[in-house]
Amino acid sequence: MTGTNVLIVGAGPVGLTLAIDLAWRGIDVTVVETRAPAAPPDPKCNHVAARTMEIFRRLGLAAKVRDAGLPEDYPHDISYRTTFTGEELTRIKIPCRRDRFTMKDGPDCNWPTPEPPHRINQIFLEPILFEHAASQPRIRIVSRTSVEDVVVEDRTATVSLRDLETGAVRRIDCRYLIGCDGARSVVRKAIGAELVGDAVVQRVQSTYIRAPKLIDLQRHERAWGTGAINPRRSGMVYAIDGRERWLVHNYMKPGEGDFDSVDRDACLRTILGVGADFNYDIISKEDWYGRRLIASKFRDRCAFVAGDAAHIWVPYAGYGMNAGIADAMNLSWLLAAHLNGWAPASILDAYAAERWPITSQVSRFAMSHAEAEIKRRGAVPEEIEDAGPSGERARREVGRLAY
Ligand SMILES: Cc1cc2nc3c(=O)[nH]c(=O)nc-3n(C[C@H](O)[C@H](O)[C@H](O)COP(=O)(O)OP(=O)(O)OC[C@H]3O[C@@H](n4cnc5c(N)ncnc54)[C@H](O)[C@@H]3O)c2cc1C
Repeated sequence: MTGTNVLIVGAGPVGLTLAIDLAWRGIDVTVVETRAPAAPPDPKCNHVAARTMEIFRRLGLAAKVRDAGLPEDYPHDISYRTTFTGEELTRIKIPCRRDRFTMKDGPDCNWPTPEPPHRINQIFLEPILFEHAASQPRIRIVSRTSVEDVVVEDRTATVSLRDLETGAVRRIDCRYLIGCDGARSVVRKAIGAELVGDAVVQRVQSTYIRAPKLIDLQRHERAWGTGAINPRRSGMVYAIDGRERWLVHNYMKPGEGDFDSVDRDACLRTILGVGADFNYDIISKEDWYGRRLIASKFRDRCAFVAGDAAHIWVPYAGYGMNAGIADAMNLSWLLAAHLNGWAPASILDAYAAERWPITSQVSRFAMSHAEAEIKRRGAVPEEIEDAGPSGERARREVGRLAY
C-alpha cells in the first residue's frame, strides 16, 4: 500500500484545474483518471467564463486557451433562425477571438477584466489543461486507472484502484480525497451524499456530426451557436471546429418516447433545413438529460466533491464547468492554507458553507433560464416559415423574444 497527500479522482476540467492550482500553491497531487492520456472528452462545454479565464491567466494558461478553439475570425455570435439554413430572426453579436480585445461597440464588449469570456469546446480545452498538468513536477497523473471503492475515515481515505490495462487492483491511502469524477461520482456515493433536486427538466437528442458542406449553405453570417426555431423541430447547432464539425441538439418534445424512438436523421435534417440529398457523418451520439441536481453534502471528513460530482444542471448559460472550476479554486486555497501550515483544519469548513449556497442559486438560475426557453419553444407561431407578411410578422416577434 502506498500513500499520497492529496488524491484527485478525475482529470476532467475541474480535476485538472484543481491539480494545477494546488501544485501552483506548492502541494503535491496525484490525479487518477480512467481515460488514456490525451483521450478526448465528449464535446460538451463551449463557454469559458471570464472568471475561469482569469484563473487560467494566473496559472499561465490563458494565452494558450485563447489561441485555441474556433478560427480567429469565426464569430462567437448566437444566431436564431427558422432553421440553420433558414431566415435569421435575431443575432447576439459577440466578438471573435481576434477582435476580443479591440472591438469596442456591441453588447459583449468592454468587459472590465483583462480576460473576457472565450468560446472553446472541451475537446480543445482539456488537452491544454492535461498537457500543462502533466508537465508540473508536483502532479502525478495515473491514467487508464479507475477508482472502484472508497473508504473514508477521520484522518485518511483509502481508495481501490483498478489498472484498466492489466486488471490489477491496488489500494492507496491519502490525507485528502477530492472527487472530481463527474456526474456518476464514486466519491459522492462514498461520502453518503444524495443528489437532490429535479431529476429531468429536459431531454436532448444530441448528435456530433462531420458535415464539411454545411458552413456554406447558410444564408447569413456564421455564428458559434445557431438556434433553429420552428414548430416542427427546434434545436441548437454549435460550431465545434469552425469548419466541418458540428454538435446538433434536438430538443425533444414533451410526450416523446426515449432517445432512440425519435427519428434522429429526420430531426437533424429539419433543424439544419436540408433535404435528403445532404451528406453528413455521425461522429458520436451525445444524448443528454437536462437536470437540476445538487449533492446533499459536499464533504465527509477528509473527502470532498467538486464539479459535476457535486452538481449537475441544464447547460444553459454555460455554468457547469465554470462553476466546477470555481468549486476547485475555493477548495484549493483552503486546502493549501492548511497543508502549508498557516491555517487550522477547520478552515476547510468554509468549502461547503461557501459553495453549497451559490451552487444552489446558480442551479435555479440555469433552470429558470431553461424553462423560459422551453416555454418559448412550445409557442412558436405556425406561420413563422411563411413567405408573406404574416410570416415576416411572426419572425420579427419571435426574434424580439428569442433571448
Ligand atoms: C451539451 C452540454 C454543454 C455544456 N456546455 C457547457 C458550457 O458551455 N460551459 C460550462 O461551464 N459547462 C458546460 N457544460 C457542463 C460541463 O461539460 C461539465 O460541467 C464539465 O464537464 C464538468 O467537469 P468535471 O471535471 O466536473 O467532470 P467531467 O468532465 O465529467 O470529468 C470527470 C472525469 O472523471 C473521470 N472519472 C469518472 N469516474 C472515474 C473513476 N471512478 N475513476 C477515475 N476517473 C474517473 C472521467 O473519465 C472524466 O475524465 C455542458 C454540458 C453539456 C452536456
